[in-house]
Amino acid sequence: MEKLRCLIIGSGPAGYTAAIYAGRANLSPVLYEGMMPGGQLTMTTDIENFPGYPNGISGFDLMEDLKNQALKFGADIRRGVATAADLSAAPYKITIDGETVIETETLIIATGATAKYLGLPDEHRFAGAGVSACATCDGFFYRKKDVAVVGGGDTACEDALYLSSICKTVYLIVRKPYLRASKIMQKRVREKENINILFGHETKSLFGENALQGAVLTKHRGTPTEEEVRINIDGFFLAIGHKPNSAIFKNYLETDETGYIKTLHGTPRTKIAGVFVAGDVGDPTYRQAITAAGSGCKAALEAERYLIERNL
Ligand code: NDP
Repeated sequence: MEKLRCLIIGSGPAGYTAAIYAGRANLSPVLYEGMMPGGQLTMTTDIENFPGYPNGISGFDLMEDLKNQALKFGADIRRGVATAADLSAAPYKITIDGETVIETETLIIATGATAKYLGLPDEHRFAGAGVSACATCDGFFYRKKDVAVVGGGDTACEDALYLSSICKTVYLIVRKPYLRASKIMQKRVREKENINILFGHETKSLFGENALQGAVLTKHRGTPTEEEVRINIDGFFLAIGHKPNSAIFKNYLETDETGYIKTLHGTPRTKIAGVFVAGDVGDPTYRQAITAAGSGCKAALEAERYLIERNL
């Protein structure tokens, strides 16, 4: 069985940054890329808020740069998905692709979170051409245009408020007759003149030629009557929640009700010594590329300290 000092799972900004730091610290890190090499950022277009790129950078290029930087410092980057974990005792055992078991002294979980989509075929058709699950990443491209946000939680309200300062009109499509968001967010959204809340509406389809031009909604007026509504929009933002990719660790690590892994006192440490969490899988609040990268750095520093303290 292969035995490692540092295993990193996940290839978003958190995983690659952890690999850069762990590589420079001579931990000989091995990183498994997971389902989506490069992570969520490879789904976005340009990234304009990652420090160091005054002219912006494409999500794909940023992740390639991070990967190459990790390779430069000796990280062993491999294709493969972690499918099972045994964290009952150190060294920890991780199964890759359901067959290969690897032992590791330290584990950095950087498996990210996956934005939820409605499941409409049109969402794929207009991906990168009007459909986005990240308002802070892509909102700027819809300056002075009409957009819609789907969802009734805090994320949807936050996204709607953010977009309302950039866009002409923001439709907030809420399936229930009320918002789930906190009262203060509800108040802010209701007070914004260019946010139009469509309560009791669900998205049926999206339309457009090469890029998104609008959405067809169904308006519930109490069953069985249903009315169809068309809105003209250039951007359609999903804000119906994220699913953290934490399932294989749930028997060992504490998670919140959504599945975000709980860490100790704002550090990447978990209740299992030598197991650290970086990036969105442990962050229900910020979920930004730069915060993920920062936590990847912290996790690698923690792993290094753990190994030094134990002479491993
Ligand atoms: P939530 O789970 O709170 O809300 C998801 C929203 O999406 C709900 O309104 C839900 O509707 C709606 N939804 C889910 N599935 C569908 C669907 N298929 N079709 C239409 N609508 C759908 O997720 P959030 O991401 O908003 O928030 C997650 C957590 O993070 C929360 O605890 C939140 O408070 C927190 N958060 C805090 C922030 C802050 O404090 N600044 C900012 C952002 C998030 P329904 O209500 O009908 O179920």
